[in-house]
Order: sequence, then structure tokens, then C-alpha cells
Amino acid sequence: MSATVIDGKAFAAKVRGQVGEHVTRLKAEHDLTPGLAVVLVGEDPASQVYVRSKGKMTVEVGMKSVEHKLDVDTSEADLLAVIDGLNNDPTIHGILVQLPLPEHLNEDLVINAIDPAKDVDGFHISNVGLLGTGQKSMVPCTPLGCLMMLRDHHGSLSGMDAVVIGRSNIVGKPMAQLLLGDSCTVTIAHSRTKDLADVVRRADIVVAAVGRPEMVPGDWIKAGATVIDVGINRLDAPERGAGKTRLVGDVDYESCAAVAGAITPVPGGVGPMTIACLLANTLTACCRANGLAEPEGLTA
Ligand code: NAD
Repeated sequence: MSATVIDGKAFAAKVRGQVGEHVTRLKAEHDLTPGLAVVLVGEDPASQVYVRSKGKMTVEVGMKSVEHKLDVDTSEADLLAVIDGLNNDPTIHGILVQLPLPEHLNEDLVINAIDPAKDVDGFHISNVGLLGTGQKSMVPCTPLGCLMMLRDHHGSLSGMDAVVIGRSNIVGKPMAQLLLGDSCTVTIAHSRTKDLADVVRRADIVVAAVGRPEMVPGDWIKAGATVIDVGINRLDAPERGAGKTRLVGDVDYESCAAVAGAITPVPGGVGPMTIACLLANTLTACCRANGLAEPEGLTA
């Protein structure tokens, strides 16, 4: 069997198109422009690239984009003051603090200072609790993107066996909650899981969020299963020339694609969906803040 490739790049473009159409309607019918503020502390090169690309795509879908670039030695009090200003700014509907923060800043404290209704990353403790109890929340962007791709591919996920490898607060745990919400039978595997290969072999859906290059081989995958590869790992690629690198996921693509029913590639799978879902969450937050119906198909 050769797996269907789930094209996250094309799907993300479609989601951004839908978000853009909603934004056009919000402007025309309600004189409303959703606004997203991104706060970056320090000059981490990878974070700068993410923030630039978030800002560009925010503007492309017709939203207002605000960037706060703060010095690496910004104090906690100053950062909290910036967040407080954004919490109280009615033109801002989504606030994202780019992680990781410099070590002298308490990430939990900072994230929990964001108004939960504007917490488009879904990391605020209130949103974590709401998701865990099956209530309306802001859902973390990467797992939301995975869920959208799974729903699009399968329709209903009800009764499917899902194994999530990884238990991080950003990906693994919220992913498991979302799959449970769609009535999957969910197992969360992690670094201490015994017989991981056997656990993964049971799965109709495998979500790999580990951060270990190509660690899931094809012989762990049940024939016909759907494999969602969240991992982004950069490897040296001297065959491409001196100093060159290439991106790989947490699954061994070739061997898994040979047995899976469907698979997301890296790059071009989960990655592009993450920013698309950030825009979708900002739109959702704007609709909720103004008592308007939420955009269909763009929430969990
Ligand atoms: P993390 O380091 O916080 O968590 C990794 C998890 O993997 C841990 O829960 C750990 O228990 C588990 N793990 C580690 N070694 C294991 C092993 N040998 N067997 C089974 N489980 C093991 O990482 P994270 O933030 O959840 O990210 C995971 C990966 O996803 C990374 O590659 C990251 O770059 C990527 N990621 C991608 C996106 C995206 O937009 N595509 C977003 C977030 C993270």
C-alpha cells in the first residue's frame, strides 16, 4: 500500500482563504477588523522568523497585525505591563507571546497574565481547564491543525484507536483531549512507555510529537493507519552541499508511507497548519468578543 499524502500546505492555504472571507464579511457587515498582537522578547533567530511570518500572514488575511519587540533583558514587570495594555485594547482580539522566553522571565506567570479570551495559543490555565472539561475554549494551534486534517480525511473519528506519542502541554496533552472530544479511544505514550512499538501498532491514528528524528519506523504502523507527524527536526545534509541541512519529522517517512493509509509529510504537513490555526483562533476570538456566531469548521 502507498499512503495518501495529506497536503498540509494546501490545506493551510484553504483555511487561510476561509479566514480571509470571514474577515471581509466582518468588515463589511460589522465594521470589525480582527487584531493579533505578537510579543517577542529578545532576538532568538528562529523566533524572529516565526514572528515575521505570522505578521505577514495576518495582514494577508486582512487582519490587523501588531508586533511588540522587547529587549532581551526586559523585566517581568515591563512585559506584564505590555500584556495588560493589549488585554485592555479593544482592537486586539488575539495575543501571542512567542516562546521560549529568556530565562529570567517566568513563562507560566506571563502566559497566565493574558486575558483567556485573547489567548489564541490556548496555553492559559483557564483554556487548558476548559478544554480538559470539554467546554468552549481557545485550543492550541498545532493540535487544532492536526484535528482539522484528521476530520477532513476521515469525516468522523468516533471509535478510532488513537495513539499520541509525546505528553507536552503544547502538543501531546491537548491533542489527546481533542481526540477524546471526537470520541477516539486515546493512549498517550511518552519516554517511559513500555513496548512503545506494540502500543503504536494498535493505532488507527498515530500522532507523533516527540522531537526525535525519524524515530517511528514503518513496522510500528498498522496497515492503513493515519500518521500525523508533528516533529520538526533539522539534520545536517552534507549531500546537499557544505553546511546544508534538511528537515525531517519524528516518523521515518518512506517506511511509514509504505504501510500507512495516509500520512503528513515534513515539511509541508502539520507546520503550515499551525499558523493557519492561529489566524482561525484570532477570528474566533473576535467573533466571541463581539457576540457573533463563530466561523464554522475553524474551531474544535
Ligand atoms: P517536548 O520536548 O516538550 O515533548 C516531547 C515529548 O516526547 C515528551 O512528552 C516526552 O515524554 C516524549 N518523548 C521523548 N522521548 C521519547 C521516546 N523515546 N519515546 C516516546 N516518547 C518520547 O516537545 P513538543 O513541544 O511537544 O514538540 C515535539 C515535536 O514537535 C518537536 O519536534 C517540535 O519541534 C515539534 N513541533 C512542531 C510544531 C509544528 O507547528 N509543526 C509545533 C510544536 C512542536
